[in-house]
Amino acid sequence: MLETFCGELRRANPGSTVFVETDIDEDGVSRFRRLYMCLEPIKRGPYGGQLLLAVGMDGDNKMFPLALSVVGVENYDNWSWSLGLLVQDLQISDSSTWCIMTDKQKGIVQAVKDKLPQAEHRCCVQHLYTNFKQMHRGLALKDRLWSCARASYMTQFKAEIEMMKQESKDAYTWLDEKDPNTWSRAHFKTGLDCDILRMEKNREAMSKHEDLLCPAIFDILEKAKKEQCMCICYYAGTMKYQICCHFGDQFVIDLGSKTCTCRKWQLREIPYGHAVAAFNRRRDKPEKNVAPFYWKSTYMKSYEPVLNPINGPNLWAPETLVCEL
Ligand SMILES: [Zn+2]
Repeated sequence: MLETFCGELRRANPGSTVFVETDIDEDGVSRFRRLYMCLEPIKRGPYGGQLLLAVGMDGDNKMFPLALSVVGVENYDNWSWSLGLLVQDLQISDSSTWCIMTDKQKGIVQAVKDKLPQAEHRCCVQHLYTNFKQMHRGLALKDRLWSCARASYMTQFKAEIEMMKQESKDAYTWLDEKDPNTWSRAHFKTGLDCDILRMEKNREAMSKHEDLLCPAIFDILEKAKKEQCMCICYYAGTMKYQICCHFGDQFVIDLGSKTCTCRKWQLREIPYGHAVAAFNRRRDKPEKNVAPFYWKSTYMKSYEPVLNPINGPNLWAPETLVCEL
């Protein structure tokens, strides 16, 4: 039945990778082993980047389906198999532009290293916190952990982690054993646009939206516009500005290269407080300086490929019973 269903999916969406693997047990009975599915219209979408297992993020910071696999057990073999197929389907030849976000499930760390050797492998901070709070309770430590994770540049990270040490030596030691490259923004590479199956529904909802940016991104920018009041901006020549914040923090922003020494702009590619202040000073609008990844036009493109509807079992072709690899 499952194989016939896969056959129908392949018929309706030619070019899709859909198959089931089975094992024959001692009694000669065929048993389900694992299933992999990546539909052809998804392979063409522009949101190849930012993989959350087999789910990417679209331009409105929402989940975008990439591929699905169902396996018997979560282990290295199955992760490696699924990721290998995905690398093929999405034609990933340079993994350095990829950011993989996982909960560090069993076997996945090695599988990512093998299949996407240059990718940045981040872990979900919510998941890190769930483990953290089992041993280190209290709101103060929770806030401290999140401040450490959110710090966008190294000196800020060091100051936050030092405060953690002073509050709880044990919590600090626990955190210090985790590789900061996987959970602290200050350690993340920039330029990965990563801070962030209702295809038709999403396409329709967005087509009614009148703006250059996707709604969730529009809201982020509106919030940034309010925050910019908290800093003072001095023009330094060319496209550079000096940003002075309360508590004496000071940064340099370059509108030309779209960078700030606090790294927040590079990490997210959406102008935030400092950048908005500089654009205001210039009497320029920050909207068009949001990465095109977050524009409505890009979003619409991602939901453009139509997933073809499929027939019910009454019409499934018997020849599709053959499992194709
Ligand atoms: Zn900044």
